[in-house]
Amino acid sequence: MARYIGPVCRLCRREGMKLFLKGERCHSAKCAIEKRNFVPGQHGKDRKAKIVGYGLQLREKQKVRRIYGVLETQFRNTFEKAVHMKGIAGENLLASLERRLDNVIYRMGLGASRSQARQIVRHGHVQVNGRKVNIPSFVVKIGDEITIRESSKTNAAILSSRDATAHAPSPSWMDVDKENLKGRIISNPRRDELTQIPINEQLIVELYSK
Ligand code: SF4
Repeated sequence: MARYIGPVCRLCRREGMKLFLKGERCHSAKCAIEKRNFVPGQHGKDRKAKIVGYGLQLREKQKVRRIYGVLETQFRNTFEKAVHMKGIAGENLLASLERRLDNVIYRMGLGASRSQARQIVRHGHVQVNGRKVNIPSFVVKIGDEITIRESSKTNAAILSSRDATAHAPSPSWMDVDKENLKGRIISNPRRDELTQIPINEQLIVELYSK
């Protein structure tokens, strides 16, 4: 499955804000946004023009894509499905991204970042309702139980992420049992809980509605 493999701090610098793509480092003084918060590239420092209209919509879409680590085609497909769901298209889009299995593992505190959580899923450490699922884009639904496979319960990366996030609150739409490395989806993700990064999803709807 295709995925972005370039430098990730560059993505934050392009959006001019922390997208929290690297786990612990994002909260340290080593964060590239703390050290050089300007657009990457030779003339990055000189870019002063205010972004409006189409540019603003495009940047918002890119930002959300980068937060969830989704490439363009998959993001567009997720949007098309969101449009046909009941409710507000933008909120449906974010809720669908939030219910991706890699994001769920990240939200459960079992991956330091979404990319590490994706790797945990890809390596077959995760089960949904007792069956192995190694597809990061798998969308969980209400009632699904997500567990770490018995043979993976001693995995160092999973345990160290779990310990590092031991005191972090779990989202209200999930019932998380960190001790036993499992969780259950109890409701649809709430808009106000989706991400600490400001997102204007309406701009994405406008972009794709052109
Ligand atoms: Fe890099 Fe994380 Fe800082 Fe983004 S927030 S620039 S990924 S360290």
